[in-house]
Amino acid sequence: MVTEHTSPAADAGEASSLSSDEDTEIRLRDVTKQFDDLVAVENLDLTIRNGELLVLLGPSGCGKSTTLRMIAGLEVPSDGSIEIGREEITKRLPQERDLSMVFQSYALYPHKTVRGNLAFPLEKMDVSDDEADEQIRRTAKLLEIDNLLDNKPGQLSGGQRQRVALGRTIVREPKAFLMDEPLSNLDAKLRVQTRSELRSLQQRLGTTTVYVTHDQEEAMSLADRIAVMNDGELQQVGTPKEVYENPVNKFVAGFLGEPSMNFLNPDQLKWSDTDDSGPETDSSFAGTAIVGVRPEDVAIVGEGDQQANAGRAYELDGEVLVVEPLGNAYEIEVDCGGDWITARLRDQPVTASPGSTVTLRLPDHAVHQFGSDGEVIE
Ligand code: ATP
Repeated sequence: MVTEHTSPAADAGEASSLSSDEDTEIRLRDVTKQFDDLVAVENLDLTIRNGELLVLLGPSGCGKSTTLRMIAGLEVPSDGSIEIGREEITKRLPQERDLSMVFQSYALYPHKTVRGNLAFPLEKMDVSDDEADEQIRRTAKLLEIDNLLDNKPGQLSGGQRQRVALGRTIVREPKAFLMDEPLSNLDAKLRVQTRSELRSLQQRLGTTTVYVTHDQEEAMSLADRIAVMNDGELQQVGTPKEVYENPVNKFVAGFLGEPSMNFLNPDQLKWSDTDDSGPETDSSFAGTAIVGVRPEDVAIVGEGDQQANAGRAYELDGEVLVVEPLGNAYEIEVDCGGDWITARLRDQPVTASPGSTVTLRLPDHAVHQFGSDGEVIE
């Protein structure tokens, strides 16, 4: 099932001198890419709206890089069409598309100054020296590297070099940025920092951006909207909140979130009729092959926030396997008749210990139901 939510793109933030009102929406219509017998991307319909940052998210081999490469012009679709603005560009050469692609590693020229590195992408373009100087100045100011223009890369910190590399991407003001796991070579701390810089820069520029990653946390923190792919097929498109809270199928539900959603057989659940108004377990799970609940929604009777122990919920008993303190939360692994359920409790110390029997409560509103085809049952 493919869902495209219609909520507007997030506010692109303060307008920048580099942004424009040009229509840079990217439309993929029924795009398929086949390599011999292998269908890498199948019947993909996807619109990347003006100025938004859309993340293509999915496991290795799901077709996200192939999709990006087709937008860039590095692969030609076997079927379907691609438009940018009102122009069809399906078979146009990469250099005729006015897009800027950022890969995992982007090296700077070590013998050129920062200014020389920023000037390089403009050399192939039809801009005067004065215009080029102005574009370099604006870009350097935006990235706060204007005091480094005469330095060489060897004199810069890792973070400053990253910013120069980004500057090279944005200096020629392309219609869109295409980014393929651009942060994966950075260590964890620099990755998180560069990620937020990238996000704030993209919002200030308001440049339409397609960003590929397999990292769901990166997707959640960067995206205006996420397009989740699996096995060459688009599964769902929506804001991070929409795809997290209302996954359309078991794949999306399980792919987003860390620790991931718990899945279990509905037969084990007992309806806890504290207010006597809930559905009976048997009838409410008719047609449901599997139920899912996120760790942060699982409560343990008698533990943590007592609010979580009230209201309409399903219950099941299990034996505690592991209690792991995480600083600001506890993660508890419980064996419920062979299904291992993870509960994440915030704030309060936990008294349950490995070997003890506990009753888990799964609030009615937090239980996702899936049919035998994996599609959500509303
Ligand atoms: P990763 O995160 O590992 O890069 P991905 O989601 O970006 O994965 P793609 O690189 O788009 O996946 O690949 C999708 C499928 O197409 C894979 O099975 C891959 O092996 C195959 N594929 C990609 N490029 C080619 C090619 N040039 N020739 C043949 N098969 C290819």
